[in-house]
Amino acid sequence: MDNNFVALTRCYYCGEPNEIVIDRYLGHSHHGKGVSELQDKVIDMRPCNKCEELMKQGVMLIGIIPSMCDPNWSAPPKDKKQAEGWMPNPYRSGDVVVLKDDAIRRLINDPGMVNYALEKRWIFIDKEVLNMLGINTKKEVA
Ligand SMILES: [Zn+2]
Repeated sequence: MDNNFVALTRCYYCGEPNEIVIDRYLGHSHHGKGVSELQDKVIDMRPCNKCEELMKQGVMLIGIIPSMCDPNWSAPPKDKKQAEGWMPNPYRSGDVVVLKDDAIRRLINDPGMVNYALEKRWIFIDKEVLNMLGINTKKEVA
């Protein structure tokens, strides 16, 4: 098959290869881009099978390095159009840790934050915090 018509996208959460996108299936509807431009790109926030499984077991903590992030990375979209397909894109440290719900409740004091994390099943977290907690190992359910 012609490579230009197939792309392997990446998972938003773990960065691993996620889905194979075939042009015939998607046509040119994908944000107006040809399918080859999707190669190695994150195209939506659906977790890959592995992350979906991890999110059932616990909450994924994705390490970021705030000083390396675009200062506006967490700014919410300005309007509806921008909100479409919007994905926060901070600079990641590469650390991904999964904590059980109980551990999240013990770790975070703010009940609003706890609810947010338990509902979303993933959060970004400063790598320094992971270092301080000594849980900066990869993909470990603790
Ligand atoms: Zn994944």
